[in-house]
Amino acid sequence: MTTVRTRFAPSPTGFMHIGNLRTCLYAYLFAKQAGGKFILRIEDTDQERYVEGAVDLIYRTLKTAGIEHDEGPDKDGGYGPYIQSERKDIYLKYAKELVEKGGAYYCFCTKERLDSLKDDKGIAKYDKHCLSLSKEEVQRRLDAGEPYVIRQNIPTEGVSEYDDMVFGHISVPNEDMEDNILIKSDGMPTYNFANVVDDHLMAINYVIRGVEYLSSTPKYNLMYDAFGWERPHYMHLSPIMKDAQRKLSKRYGDANFEDFLAKGYLPEAIVNYIALLGWSPKGNEEKLSMAQLVEQFDVEGISKSPSIFDEAKMRWLNGEYIKEMSVEKFVEVAKPYFDKSKIAGKYDYSALAKLLIPRVEILSEIPDKVNFLEEFGEYDVEMFEHKKMKITKEMALANLKEIEKVYENESVWTDENLKAKASELAEKLACKSGQIFLPLRLALTGVASTPGGATEMAELLGKNESMARLRFSIGLLEKALA
Ligand code: GLU
Repeated sequence: MTTVRTRFAPSPTGFMHIGNLRTCLYAYLFAKQAGGKFILRIEDTDQERYVEGAVDLIYRTLKTAGIEHDEGPDKDGGYGPYIQSERKDIYLKYAKELVEKGGAYYCFCTKERLDSLKDDKGIAKYDKHCLSLSKEEVQRRLDAGEPYVIRQNIPTEGVSEYDDMVFGHISVPNEDMEDNILIKSDGMPTYNFANVVDDHLMAINYVIRGVEYLSSTPKYNLMYDAFGWERPHYMHLSPIMKDAQRKLSKRYGDANFEDFLAKGYLPEAIVNYIALLGWSPKGNEEKLSMAQLVEQFDVEGISKSPSIFDEAKMRWLNGEYIKEMSVEKFVEVAKPYFDKSKIAGKYDYSALAKLLIPRVEILSEIPDKVNFLEEFGEYDVEMFEHKKMKITKEMALANLKEIEKVYENESVWTDENLKAKASELAEKLACKSGQIFLPLRLALTGVASTPGGATEMAELLGKNESMARLRFSIGLLEKALA
């Protein structure tokens, strides 16, 4: 049995598009499930697009996402180099071989000539002009140092066909395809050529990539055939959309993996979510670890239609991951967010973690949820009005005065004890417990959303601060009602 070999072939553009990361993930899952190898190849032939640090970003992304490559520029597996710019000589050698075999030809056409081929829409299809040059003339012009490109020689008749693992039978009339450039005038290969040579030389037998290459694949197959190489299997993947009209894109700031990390998404939740974007597991479980994904991934579950990125769903899933965290783990991942908040270094993060774990979906919610501990002052007393719980400002004031009397003499300042005392009071006043707890929580924090109930907040704040805030709030209400 031949070993399954898949690859991820990103261009170092300086950011990782969520769609590319999903392609990478599927290629990884497919290889790992088959006990095969997953290869990282850097496609940097487009030197104009080179971005400093972009290759490091690719390594960092894979590491953060928990996708471990078996071979790559930093891990030689005997099929290197794994960076296209270091393979320049290889491409030229194979391009010449393809010329020998009739699958390609030298072209010396000038820009002016190519421009003259354009129709009124500015579109030109190359007319194979240089295909008719004699061998001798080609050699003479090469020897004279004339600039040239090498083009693929596509048959003018017939159809090219293959079976895609996701899209099924693909058939493209040869006359619809162009004699694309394989080697540019600077000697660098185009993607069209490099992907074929590299995939073959790296023994890639399953090519998994974006659907934008679906219809150019017949061209690539013609090259495999001309070389006498075995064609790989292909799996093309539909795009991830923002909505029915547009794809996720860097331009709109909704596609960058690192942006989601910065927003407080956990890498494992992002990976889990994007695995489900375009692939449906057979079972109902949606929270799947990398090991489960490797086990369950299957081509039949891959959808041909584009998938819509639903951030609310990813956010929910992230919350599910947070709920399962230990306090230690939560403090570790949440520390940067605590440190950014007003309470930085002032409270016991572990005590806060216990309250936040069940209440936070993404980590960037943390500062807003804890800032009230340090930030307290004038606030809008209309907050006390609560129709559903039948609380008016008058009732809030009356109940807060009662609870102040009870708490004043309380020395056991724990959530448990304070809760019991507040419940006793509710019974004594014959009111609903919420009619005590809600005003109390607002009085202690001054904000509507807090990481826990009233008495949890009281315990966190301590007796002195709690009593001071309670009295301040009573004062605010008295002033408003006077
Ligand atoms: N460098 C290409 C891209 O980023 C890779 C396409 C492929 O996987 O063949 O789109």
